[in-house]
Amino acid sequence: AVVVVGSCMTDLVSLTSRLPKTGETVHGHKFFIGFGGKGANQCVQAARLGAKTSMVCKVGKDSFGNNYIENLKQNGISTEFTYQTKDAATGTASIIVNNEGQNIIVIVAGANLLLNTEDLREAASAISRAKVMICQLEVAPATSLEALTIAHSNGVKTLFNPAPAMADLDPRFYTLSDVFCCNESEAEILTGLEVSSPEDAGKAALVLMERGCRVVIVTLGAEGCVMLSQTEPVPKHIPTEKVKAVDTTGAGDSFVGALAFYLAYYPNLSLEEMLKRSNFIAAVSVQATGTQSSYPYKKDLPLDLF
Ligand code: ADP
Repeated sequence: AVVVVGSCMTDLVSLTSRLPKTGETVHGHKFFIGFGGKGANQCVQAARLGAKTSMVCKVGKDSFGNNYIENLKQNGISTEFTYQTKDAATGTASIIVNNEGQNIIVIVAGANLLLNTEDLREAASAISRAKVMICQLEVAPATSLEALTIAHSNGVKTLFNPAPAMADLDPRFYTLSDVFCCNESEAEILTGLEVSSPEDAGKAALVLMERGCRVVIVTLGAEGCVMLSQTEPVPKHIPTEKVKAVDTTGAGDSFVGALAFYLAYYPNLSLEEMLKRSNFIAAVSVQATGTQSSYPYKKDLPLDLF
């Protein structure tokens, strides 16, 4: 099974012809609510590929929280350790997008920040029985560290996605990561290097590797990703499909969720093969709009991915 310790956010999206200035009211032409949050996105993608999944997270005791739990259940995800709190609202991302695709976003992490180490001790049974545990940085760093520690000490493979990136990441995040997977901008923040090509990504991966991870992956959007591992310590570029991207939001989470699925269910595949398949799945996700709504199901994918 795949266990995710991470965030749930309700996306509140308004489309307008132009972004409002301070104090100004503009009329939008469309509004929709979406399910987001990096943790839940990754969990949903893994579940849609056929993984048995559990989401360890915290939402508010409010309608967004209730709806989010329903969404997890509809995706076949266990909500046994999805907590609800009265002390904060469900995490939200209020997003305004203009016709040029430019946006302004306010995230209120809310209940996500109240997921604590006590909750994790309760969920430790599920974490320790999993094949793979994924976490990110949209909950309190101490919570993610505790999740990594529980998984690591029980021999559960850890997949860490340092997003959103923080410059002074606690060094234990590296040593507790079996697989450390970040995108270009996160690699830049973490290393201080400029990352805009597969070659740059390889250099950044070498720096991250030195900090103690077993495997480093840097994703590069339409360029696929770069991998580096202790057993193959030379960076390798894994290109992806040429596709017509319509909305790349959440592509990284689709990729991470897919990678967790392969690590858990196809552990004998080479890392390169897992990444080729994860690239393919994430490339499918960029060809439809929305975040979770663009993530493919096993039944929609070529049989040779399974
Ligand atoms: P993030 O969503 O975190 O910014 P990336 O943009 O690096 O992450 O995308 C993650 C993965 O999604 C890439 O490694 C690739 O597999 C896939 N992907 C993203 N954008 C495209 C694209 N335009 N064409 C094909 N695949 C893409």
